[in-house]
Amino acid sequence: MRWQGNRQSENVEDRRGARRPLIMGGGIGGIILLLLVLFLGGPQAVMQLLQQQGGGPVAGPQVDEDPQATAFVRTVLADTEDVWDEQFQAVGRAYQKPKLVLFSDEVDSACGFASAAVGPFYCPADRKVYLDTSFFRELEQRFEAPGEFAQAYVIAHEIGHHVQNQLGWSDRVQNAQQRVGKVEANKLSVRLELQADYLAGVWAHHAQRSRNILERGDIQAALDAATAIGDDKLQMESRGRVVPDSFTHGTSAQRARWFKRGLQTGDLAGAELLFQVDDSEL
Ligand SMILES: [Zn+2]
Repeated sequence: MRWQGNRQSENVEDRRGARRPLIMGGGIGGIILLLLVLFLGGPQAVMQLLQQQGGGPVAGPQVDEDPQATAFVRTVLADTEDVWDEQFQAVGRAYQKPKLVLFSDEVDSACGFASAAVGPFYCPADRKVYLDTSFFRELEQRFEAPGEFAQAYVIAHEIGHHVQNQLGWSDRVQNAQQRVGKVEANKLSVRLELQADYLAGVWAHHAQRSRNILERGDIQAALDAATAIGDDKLQMESRGRVVPDSFTHGTSAQRARWFKRGLQTGDLAGAELLFQVDDSEL
């Protein structure tokens, strides 16, 4: 994937290595104490205080341990901003850029406390995408889907959920889910997930047209990722059997198919199809 040198987004919130302030339990008291120490004792006094408290680094500028991954995420996010800005304008809307939170191990979101084990996710309540870049390693090792474009696809899928949220599609599905049973509600969730895959494809279509980001093998890498993280495959691996009613993301074949369809058409309006076709056409 060609991304180096392209615009990087300002909308990344880096919470990696963030620890709760240890000085006096943090809070206002901690801040006042820190300010006092800063004014009266200078930085050395702060370090001393930290050592006495056995504390680690306080919140503030941190050393980025993986600058390459950060630059990559910022660039892909910027690319999604450019594409969705343009696509929303075309239908007379203004795209509201979401924030992307980088975290390590665990994170607190408006949707609750989450560990990295849940994988990347979008929280509609605070309109933020949450990503632990260690997932990229997992994608490569556990799911055998290496490559930058596979990673970009994962980010674009989460951004797809933001697009759905802003266009009111997620709400529509949620309302519909309240009127049906569990099995039907699950089917609607699958359609929403496949739509996010389709939207990831729509992003890739326009990114390619404007910035020529794709290199040989990239599309296959994204399809492999879509295939590797399909529900049927994950269920087979974890339980040894497939239980279609509990699918929440769609099968491997469905995910790859809808991503590809978005990639080929680049048509935002075509995403509506996901709620029009029969189960057999998914
Ligand atoms: Zn999703």
